[in-house]
Amino acid sequence: MKKILKLIKAIFARAERSQNQTVHADGKTWEQMISERLDKQTDNEVKEIIDKYEPQQMKTLEFTQPNRPIDNLVIHCTATPENRHHTADEVRRWHTDPAPRGNGWRQVGYSDLILLDGTCERMTADEWAVTNGVAGHNARSRHICYVGGLATDGRTAKDTRTPQQVHTLAVFVKEFHARFPNVRIVGHNELAGKACPSFDVQKWLKSIGINQ
Ligand SMILES: [Zn+2]
Repeated sequence: MKKILKLIKAIFARAERSQNQTVHADGKTWEQMISERLDKQTDNEVKEIIDKYEPQQMKTLEFTQPNRPIDNLVIHCTATPENRHHTADEVRRWHTDPAPRGNGWRQVGYSDLILLDGTCERMTADEWAVTNGVAGHNARSRHICYVGGLATDGRTAKDTRTPQQVHTLAVFVKEFHARFPNVRIVGHNELAGKACPSFDVQKWLKSIGINQ
C-alpha cells in the first residue's frame, strides 16, 4: 500500500511538471484514468499501467516545432477490417520488413497511429521524421492513421472509427490546428485516387468545429 501511494505521488508530480492536459480515449485526463485504475491493482500491475499509458499519452499532444516546412496533416486508415486490432509494431513491420513479407520501405507510413481503444502511438522516434504516407507529398506532410477503414469483408471502404478513435483523432486535430493553423488537414483521398481514410475529412472537421 505504501508503495502504491508512493507511485501515485510520483505520477502526479510528473504530470504536474509537464502540465499535462492530455485527454484519453474516454474523455478522461491521464490522471483521472490512472487514479481510477489504481484502486484494485498490485504493485506490478500499477507499474504496467504506468508504462503502458504514460509515455504515448504524454508525448502525443506536445507538438514540438517542425524542423521542415509542413503543408499538410494527412489522415489515413490502415485499410484493415473493422474491429480487428493491430499494433504500431505490426504496422511498422508491414511497411519496413523486406518484401515479400513487408513493403520494404526505409520508413514507416505514418508518424502517429490511433489504435481501436483510442490510444495514440508515436510511430517514429522523431515526430517530424518524413514518413511514407503519400508519394510526392511526404517531404511537406505529417501523416496520422487510425486502425481500420474496411468493412468486415476486408474490401469495402467503411468509416470504422470506434468512438474512442474518433475522440482521440478529434483531440489530435484540434490541438494540431490550434498550434499550426496554416497547415491544412486533409484525407489521403484528397491527395491521391484512394478511398483512404474512408470518410469525408473536410465534412468531419467542420462537424467538430474546425474551419480551415
Ligand atoms: Zn492512406
